[in-house]
Amino acid sequence: MSCLKDLGQNIVLCKKCDLGSMGTNPVLGEGPADSKIMIVGEAPGANEEKVGRPFVGRGGKLLRKTLEKFEIKNPYITNVVKHRPPENRKPKKEEIIACSDFLECEINAVKPHVILALGKTAAEYFGIKSRLSEVNGKIFEIKGIKVVACYHPAAVLRNTNLTDEFNQAIGQAKMAL
Ligand code: SF4
Repeated sequence: MSCLKDLGQNIVLCKKCDLGSMGTNPVLGEGPADSKIMIVGEAPGANEEKVGRPFVGRGGKLLRKTLEKFEIKNPYITNVVKHRPPENRKPKKEEIIACSDFLECEINAVKPHVILALGKTAAEYFGIKSRLSEVNGKIFEIKGIKVVACYHPAAVLRNTNLTDEFNQAIGQAKMAL
């Protein structure tokens, strides 16, 4: 039976790292369980935590608009870490390791053809250690899945000069499907 069945409850009850004891609500992945594409961000932010859905803030809007532009439909969207780190800091290594069972469950259950790894934390999760400026839009084959490295939409909002590269990476993900 798919591990997705109990995933939500397991995440809600999870205290495997300190982020689970900070009184914030976790944000679960969402999307079809048989989606061809999985989008993996870093961690929920304040807007996501409030609404309980991934990528609903300004960065999320940019992401969703760009996915539409490339006619990428029904993605499964999730994050490396399911609870929001305080002050939106980057998740610590031990938090990423603690949370990895949940992301691995999602990957194993959804079996996406393509994963779009948004930002450095997600890229590094998949073993892509180079700077994003060097690997944005590149496709890596990891455990039989095509993983496309891509700037995080929050980085694009901070620096609109990255817009073309962001579009290019999402276009690559579309072509890899
Ligand atoms: S961030 Fe992940 S590992 Fe840490 S408490 Fe939340 S669900 Fe558990």
